[in-house]
Amino acid sequence: MKNVVTSLDFERILCATGPYEGEILRPSDGKHPHKIAWIQCVGSRQVNEGGNNYCSAVCCAYSQKQVILAKDHDADLKATIFHNDVRAYGKDFERFHQRAERLSDVRFIRSYVTVGREIESSKNVTIRYSTLDDGVKEEEFDMVVLSVGLNPPKDVEMLAQKIGIELSDQKFCKNNPYNPIETSRKGVFVSGAFQGPLDIPESVVTASGAGALCGQLLSYRRHRLERERVYPPEKDVSKEELKIGVVVCYCGANIGRVVNIPEVIEYAATLPNVSWAGENLFACSTENAKQISDAIVEKGLNRVVLAACTPRTHEPLFRDTCREAGLNQYFFEFANIREHCSWVHSREKEAATAKAKEIVRMSVARAAHLEPLQEFQLPVDHTGLVVGGGVAGMTAALNMAEQGFEVYLIEKDDDLGGMRAGSTIPWRDWTCSPT
Ligand SMILES: Cc1cc2nc3c(=O)[nH]c(=O)nc-3n(C[C@H](O)[C@H](O)[C@H](O)COP(=O)(O)OP(=O)(O)OC[C@H]3O[C@@H](n4cnc5c(N)ncnc54)[C@H](O)[C@@H]3O)c2cc1C
Repeated sequence: MKNVVTSLDFERILCATGPYEGEILRPSDGKHPHKIAWIQCVGSRQVNEGGNNYCSAVCCAYSQKQVILAKDHDADLKATIFHNDVRAYGKDFERFHQRAERLSDVRFIRSYVTVGREIESSKNVTIRYSTLDDGVKEEEFDMVVLSVGLNPPKDVEMLAQKIGIELSDQKFCKNNPYNPIETSRKGVFVSGAFQGPLDIPESVVTASGAGALCGQLLSYRRHRLERERVYPPEKDVSKEELKIGVVVCYCGANIGRVVNIPEVIEYAATLPNVSWAGENLFACSTENAKQISDAIVEKGLNRVVLAACTPRTHEPLFRDTCREAGLNQYFFEFANIREHCSWVHSREKEAATAKAKEIVRMSVARAAHLEPLQEFQLPVDHTGLVVGGGVAGMTAALNMAEQGFEVYLIEKDDDLGGMRAGSTIPWRDWTCSPT
């Protein structure tokens, strides 16, 4: 059935670089679907012999995200989520669920379902479900999304054999229950969804943990292979007249779907001291960042304004882009036209474009006053401080100590252990190593 897609397919459909450039269209006829059903737990929490009996952990939250985004594209969309129960656990996820539930025309229906049939003329799909109030019903949808769970890769046994690690019954990596990053083999660590179904923040946390454990093992070799990154010599632009370059980023559809980018570029080019204005689909991609550093050199720019996303995550990258072009990194100015503009005014395209122009105008004015700054190093105390001697604090303190740093672990109670101190769960020996 053409209009039944997996959640991963739907993720691509939502994406600016996806098959329909971020427009939600259905595969059978390229038309906008007005009524979509999500079916939860497809391939998860199965009760049949040999089936995936685990909860895939991420599907409830990602479906809610997909519903919110789909409603953002089309406020009149009717969305139905068929679930076994909603497991949106984790920090702030309940709030996310409530946000989806509060949207108009969004129904959460608790029912096992079957996909019924494809209607020949419309290619719509029917779903059979039952509720306590209405009994068994069959309802028609323009499109159906299957919220598929997470599986280990097919060739996982070969990988496990090669690396010499054990797998769990479900073919995820078997790990130490006290430290889920440790595998059955010393010196081999596991992070992300190979531990078991994890979302992105948890994958990142476990990946950072695995990195720290590798750092611990390799700490005795630290600084021996280090090479300093060499940048081109910095140009003295103090005597030059101002030449500001403005780059406006589409951020895929994030900005481009709301803000009229060509209009902003045209406007930016008219601003005082701007000698060049151009566009980028994704300024943060390696290739496009290189295009910006090439433009700095070719057009002799001595200030750069990037109208894009957030300095919080991306400013260091673009400072680096300036350094690559021999420009002092503090001649860079970020204009946030995503978080401060397109994301918060997604339904007011004209007003958002006007605001983007204002943000760019202010950034260009500020860029004209930027001074080159030099960074220097300060002596740093190499000891660590950990506050709280529960399981998390003790693990962090031990890891730092194993890497050769002196650590102070502060606990307000008489004993270490935090909440675990009162429980009967055994814990490994907490004797610190000589470091
Ligand atoms: C539809 C959908 C939507 C989602 N949306 C969200 C969301 O909004 N927010 C969120 O937090 N999470 C979301 N998730 C969960 C998120 O995808 C996972 O948390 C994340 O992908 C886990 O990252 P990972 O790097 O551990 O695994 P993966 O992303 O699966 O990456 C593993 C990589 O390893 C490669 N690989 C595998 N085997 C080998 C091998 N033998 N040799 C070399 N390479 C190999 C794979 O090709 C792959 O590139 C979603 C999941 C799905 C299915």
